[in-house]
Amino acid sequence: MVPVWLILAAVQVASSPVPANGGFNATVRQGIMPIVSDPKIPMPAEKDWKDPGYLKIVWIQSPNCDQRKPGSIVDTIVVHSTAIDSLEKTTEVFQRESSNPVSAHFTIGKDGSIVQNVSTFDRAWHAGVSKDAGGRTSVNHFSIGIELVNLDDGKDGYPEAQLQALCGIIAEMRRRFPIKQIVSHEFIAIPPGRKIDPAAFPWKRLAYFGLPMYYGQNKS
Ligand SMILES: [Zn+2]
Repeated sequence: MVPVWLILAAVQVASSPVPANGGFNATVRQGIMPIVSDPKIPMPAEKDWKDPGYLKIVWIQSPNCDQRKPGSIVDTIVVHSTAIDSLEKTTEVFQRESSNPVSAHFTIGKDGSIVQNVSTFDRAWHAGVSKDAGGRTSVNHFSIGIELVNLDDGKDGYPEAQLQALCGIIAEMRRRFPIKQIVSHEFIAIPPGRKIDPAAFPWKRLAYFGLPMYYGQNKS
């Protein structure tokens, strides 16, 4: 017998609106998050950009990534804020192969829209020179980097929709990898004080995961 939830899911998919706005919207997946499979899409032109919407993901691949060190076990979530005011601008920065190339695995907009930038099996370039509480360096090798669109000025807030998307991604990463800690970029940045993100983040919101969390400046 076909389970009821499967029927409901099928109905939901079948009744999803067909996007009118060409290739970009056509790749937006409906419903349950995170669905992070292909197709990867190119960076849309400015006129075609549309944030995917709450808990929806598009994958716009960043060239700024490489292989993790062989044998690396992904066990850390690094939370960042962009210091950039939109999902589109952040995605565009992650497309740049500049002298200081950067990326993250995921970027979350204020409305809970998600762009995946790098496969979780690859190394994104988000942490820079870094060390975790256990003294391990080069945190990019063993972490998932998640960027939150936020001005990082200590005043800009993190809306509930954005926090829910973050929690959803963390939950999914825990299913995929043996995640053992959640850290701020500020905490792992070397030298201490090099980064302050994510400024004014409500860490208590992530406490229910029951994982050690390290944030603020590492004084040790
Ligand atoms: Zn950061």
